Amino acid sequence: MAKIVCVLYDDPVKGYPKSYARDDLPQLERYPDGQTLPTPRAIDFTPGTLLGSVSGELGLRKYLEANGHELVVTSSKDGAGSVLDRELHDAEIVISQPFWPAYMTAERIARAPKLKMIVTAGIGSDHTDLQAAMDRGITVAEVTYCNSNSVAEHVVMMTLGLVRNYIPSYNWVTKGGWNIADCVARSYDVEGMHVGTVAAGRIGLRVLRLLKPFDMKLHYMDRHRLPEAVERELNLTHHTNLESLTRVCDVVTLNCPLHPETEHMINADSLKKFKRGAYLINTARGKLCDTNAVVAALESGQLAGYAGDVWFPQPAPADHPWRSMPHHGMTPHISGTSLSAQARYAAGTREILECYFEGRPIRNEYLIVQGGSLAGVGAHSYSAGNATKGSEEAARFRQK
Ligand code: NAD
Repeated sequence: MAKIVCVLYDDPVKGYPKSYARDDLPQLERYPDGQTLPTPRAIDFTPGTLLGSVSGELGLRKYLEANGHELVVTSSKDGAGSVLDRELHDAEIVISQPFWPAYMTAERIARAPKLKMIVTAGIGSDHTDLQAAMDRGITVAEVTYCNSNSVAEHVVMMTLGLVRNYIPSYNWVTKGGWNIADCVARSYDVEGMHVGTVAAGRIGLRVLRLLKPFDMKLHYMDRHRLPEAVERELNLTHHTNLESLTRVCDVVTLNCPLHPETEHMINADSLKKFKRGAYLINTARGKLCDTNAVVAALESGQLAGYAGDVWFPQPAPADHPWRSMPHHGMTPHISGTSLSAQARYAAGTREILECYFEGRPIRNEYLIVQGGSLAGVGAHSYSAGNATKGSEEAARFRQK
């Protein structure tokens, strides 16, 4: 019998939903590169229901308890005396989502002698100290591709929202105004603009494909070059470094994982090399950017706008400067946890657990760390080391 600790975000303030806005979800057959969607033996939830909050339990309780395991589900993850800390001593598996991450630091891993696996119900496992997991031989797995397209849709929404000045214009409507000049004094078309993605993996490439019909000029940099046929099809300009891309792009979008090589890649120095008035969209990880350098660039006009849904730490304290900086279009971390995405990553988490308990291999594409080193997608997209430093700040958050 194993103990599984699952850290999820809180239910809605008005309680767990009794009904939903829509009756069904579209049926997807495969992901764009042909990878199959999650293939658990069964699921015990209704796709389209809220699975990512505490009462949704990722639809896992029936399966785990039927197999004799203990499931603890909590949103209490930060600060002294959190339920996560209390339950770690005999936990075999910890599951959490990047939206409300259980920061699995080296200290926490050291206090969990029975821990064998850390599962990210979603994509992006930087909230785990991957070096500490490697050193202890702990497996780290995530549900690759489950929400990559969801995030790409958010990037497109935020690009259009910033460039066309959507949020300030919406705010004039709710204030009872008709202030056309106020709305349009910062409003442009994206047509003809140059957009560049830092990383062209599953999300970055999808962003490029979605923005192509807007007649934007497309750029990318990645440590893995895309196939020539894809570069030709999308008329892509490849850049070998950040400076070369940011010098020419009107819109820059970050789509790489957070790891020691990418931490704070956007800082006061690199921002100086952006085109003046560029828009920066970051739905990848907050810590890719130096928080205060982004604020300063918005205040000086070096950046015309910044939008994204990722912060550091998470949840972001009430006084996090990105909540109040000018010309931003931030949301809480939601792009990868639409009801559509939740159905996929709940099923993928179940698939990973079934493999683990039945002694079957976990799909290579789901692996970040295994057997003491980076593996699968981890070996392709991450570098060894730790990016959780400073995560204890998350304890300052108080729910409103
Ligand atoms: P992916 O593994 O398909 O792509 C990652 C790409 O980043 C790879 O092509 C890799 O070569 C590239 N890369 C890594 N390090 C780089 C570097 N130093 N310079 C340039 N390129 C580099 O992953 P994906 O599905 O596209 O997701 C990417 C990231 O987006 C995740 O790791 C996660 O941090 C973030 N994400 C956010 C959300 C959200 O809800 N906001 C959801 C999913 C993923």
